[in-house]
Amino acid sequence: MFKVNDNYLKLPGSYLFSTIAKKVNTYKSEHPDKQVISLGIGDVTQPLAPAIIERLHSAVDEMADAKTFKGYAPDLGYEFLRTTIAENDYAARGVNIAADEIFVSDGAKSDSANIQEIFSLDNKIAVCDPVYPVYVDSNVMAGRTGTYDDTTGLWSDVIYMPCRAENGFAPEFPKENPDLIYLCFPNNPTGAMISKAQLQEWVDYANKIGAVIIYDAAYEAYISEADVPHTIYECEGARSCAIELRSFSKNAGFTGTRLGFTVIPKDLKSSDGVALHSLWARRHGTKFNGAPYIVQAAGAAVYSEEGKKQTAQQIAYYMNNAKIIKEALAEIGYTVSGGVNAPYIWLKTPNDMTSWEFFDYLLENANIVGTPGSGFGPSGEGYFRLTAFGSYENTLTAVERIKKL
Ligand SMILES: *Cc1c(COP(=O)(O)O)cnc(C)c1O
Repeated sequence: MFKVNDNYLKLPGSYLFSTIAKKVNTYKSEHPDKQVISLGIGDVTQPLAPAIIERLHSAVDEMADAKTFKGYAPDLGYEFLRTTIAENDYAARGVNIAADEIFVSDGAKSDSANIQEIFSLDNKIAVCDPVYPVYVDSNVMAGRTGTYDDTTGLWSDVIYMPCRAENGFAPEFPKENPDLIYLCFPNNPTGAMISKAQLQEWVDYANKIGAVIIYDAAYEAYISEADVPHTIYECEGARSCAIELRSFSKNAGFTGTRLGFTVIPKDLKSSDGVALHSLWARRHGTKFNGAPYIVQAAGAAVYSEEGKKQTAQQIAYYMNNAKIIKEALAEIGYTVSGGVNAPYIWLKTPNDMTSWEFFDYLLENANIVGTPGSGFGPSGEGYFRLTAFGSYENTLTAVERIKKL
């Protein structure tokens, strides 16, 4: 009789967003007259920009012509896209990343989950707390995390780096040395950013202890401040210790279209000289058959002059929502952060409510859905995430309702 991978059985039963959906559906069915606004889920709402749609159409037409038809894409990505990324995201920032160090994929969620495969199960991971749940859960599935403690919500073999108001939502070096360090900036869920000098310290630390930083920069395009890094490779020495994950989802609205990439510099090697670049190339070749030509063509259009202008407008639209939410909440006395370099506003729950108490309070009294901070990790308790991905009109309505509470 077959046996299942029982690492999967160790995963805590209730998934954050399904718990939210259940609560919201129950509320809606009991109150059919109420108009519930979601400021909860991390998905874009603006349609794809015209320059991207145009390229999608023309790429579809190429597929209809025997002379331009494309079958399997190269599993590491089309040269035209890898070169465009290298030029725009790296060379243009004075950063040395070659096109063949860029691995095109169907998105950063799968890359962030899969990247742990190329590391030993003995490796110890360190994560920020609160954190994007994929990093820990994918390591649970692999069997790297030890046992789960129901009361603390912590895994025995994971190193947690609390990020709370006291440290400006920036992780501090852990007491125990990790092998793999997950960092995400601009951060989901806290909306926080760290300075280039702070990130440089992490790069120096990783090089010193022989760790790898897995740097998730999915929200890079939302950065508005100067002196914060758009890529970890702006830091000296990052080529020998950092992997970078990028996505077209939040930058250009590809959440339903699917495109991302991972950067692994050729200088990133284990102590016995094995290049992670070659392991990841092997993994792609074995388990991935390439992102669709049509989508990669559309991805390249994001970097066209029109594409850049149009996606920047969409991001400005979301960031205007972020500003509205943040300023309104601050005005009525909430402690709020984020919302400057990321589409997320992170607020301290009022009156010492737990994150879930505030969730229920907001749903029942303002008909607004947000995300309880504790769902992202124990240090998220007492915090709450609102997102700027709604429409301008809904954002205004939501803010008015919160003001009236
Ligand atoms: C949304 C998001 C991603 C992007 O995932 P895709 O699979 O590319 O859509 C990656 N990391 C974080 C932290 C995110 O919030």
